[in-house]
Amino acid sequence: MIQTINSVFKAQQAHKYTLRNSNATQRINKLSALKSSIQAHEKEIYAALQSDLRKSEFESAITEIIFIYAEIDFAIKNLSDWMRPVKVGKTITALTAKNRIYYEPKGVCLIISPWNYPFQLLMAPLISAIAAGNCAILKPSELSSETSSIICRIIEKCFEESEVSCFEGDAELSTYLLSLPFDHIFFTGSTAVGKIVMEAAAKNLTSLTLELGGKSPTLIDETANLDTAASKIAWGKLTNAGQTCIAPDYILIHESLEQAFIEKYKSAVHQMFYTKSGELNLDSYAKIINKKHFNRIEALISDAVDKGAKIPFGGNGDDATQTITPTILTALPENANIMKEEIFGPVLPIITFKKIEEAISLINKMDKPLALYIFSQDKKRIQQVIKNTSAGGTCVNDVLIHISNPKLPFGGVNRSGLGSCHGQYGFKTFSHERAIVFQSKLEMSNLIYPPYEKKGWVL
Ligand code: NAD
Repeated sequence: MIQTINSVFKAQQAHKYTLRNSNATQRINKLSALKSSIQAHEKEIYAALQSDLRKSEFESAITEIIFIYAEIDFAIKNLSDWMRPVKVGKTITALTAKNRIYYEPKGVCLIISPWNYPFQLLMAPLISAIAAGNCAILKPSELSSETSSIICRIIEKCFEESEVSCFEGDAELSTYLLSLPFDHIFFTGSTAVGKIVMEAAAKNLTSLTLELGGKSPTLIDETANLDTAASKIAWGKLTNAGQTCIAPDYILIHESLEQAFIEKYKSAVHQMFYTKSGELNLDSYAKIINKKHFNRIEALISDAVDKGAKIPFGGNGDDATQTITPTILTALPENANIMKEEIFGPVLPIITFKKIEEAISLINKMDKPLALYIFSQDKKRIQQVIKNTSAGGTCVNDVLIHISNPKLPFGGVNRSGLGSCHGQYGFKTFSHERAIVFQSKLEMSNLIYPPYEKKGWVL
């Protein structure tokens, strides 16, 4: 495979010079071809997501496939505007010149993606890369192998390998790809691997975007509408069985509301994810991706319980179906491992506070999260939380939905990520903003050239 990668990389390095001259219509045609190829393979994508993660067709449609159609349509509609050079104002040193910003393609880009939304997390950056006029090599996750294989087939059908090429494989393959002098690397995955990717990029001084993970806190103050909070959090936490980078990771709630919230959360979860006879409805509830992650989540629950935490809801795992029931943990000891790492599963720890400042201080003791959610009806309180914390993105009185608006940048901050994606932000991520000054015949540079005697008046 290494020989094939080397020859594809070389071919893309040559082809990037042709692509850089592509106009909006040519790029739009490529995006349309990609959309048609996805449409032609829709059934297989649904089957692959069912097989990899037990995702229902509806969940796959809204979180993976329709999401990507929307991203393609948005890029097609706006690409001509995005590509247009931007006029900027003049300065005293270039008073007679025209000043412009050109968006030039980065060149040959590497896109590495994870398994949790295996289709959209590979396709969304690819759409931006194509829109910006780049070549790309794709490395989807080996853990969602069925989806990775269909992605590679979709790509083969609509691109020459000298333009976009897809390789299936694991960390070893990633490591080799990362050693090549790409023009940009776009990595989505864990914070731990993000550090490895950044080190590898540093060796070639390759620019990079890191879309990472972390613990996204969800704050509920005493003014919050608990019914709304409980149902939105139940949906946001348990979509894809908690294996969502921006899932509410843990709850920080005013102590007076803890019991009421637990009851409302249980009831919302039952309505959404259980049958009328009280069975967990596996048709609407994803499985844990593999045995290793299943064991990891079970170990987080046992560790918390061993250290004194309580389980007022759930706590059961079924090995055969790789399913962990929706679970709540309360009375968490400070040293519980579950508060030290991203949970990435259907377990919701609840921590109480008396004053909002305690909650803010706890959030600020942890790494800056990818998302922070606030449930409150108090406008001043909401501003207080926003201004005194940092996060990649935030929803007030909702969860997850900020990811679905391509007019908003999506990304993390420090240990939850670097750079952003979606819509024009994705286009800019895969472009170099090149400063261009067109000097006019009337230029006045003589004013600042030496000799400097008698030029004091210019200042
Ligand atoms: P991961 O970091 O283990 O793997 C991601 C990709 O990196 C895979 O393609 C994998 O093959 C590759 N990889 C693994 N080890 C590597 C190594 N040592 N060197 C080079 N490449 C390596 O992540 P995952 O388990 O697939 O995904 C879950 C993580 O991704 C969570 O932390 C989640 O929060 C994060 N995530 C972030 C976003 C986002 O948009 N910010 C979206 C989804 C998932």
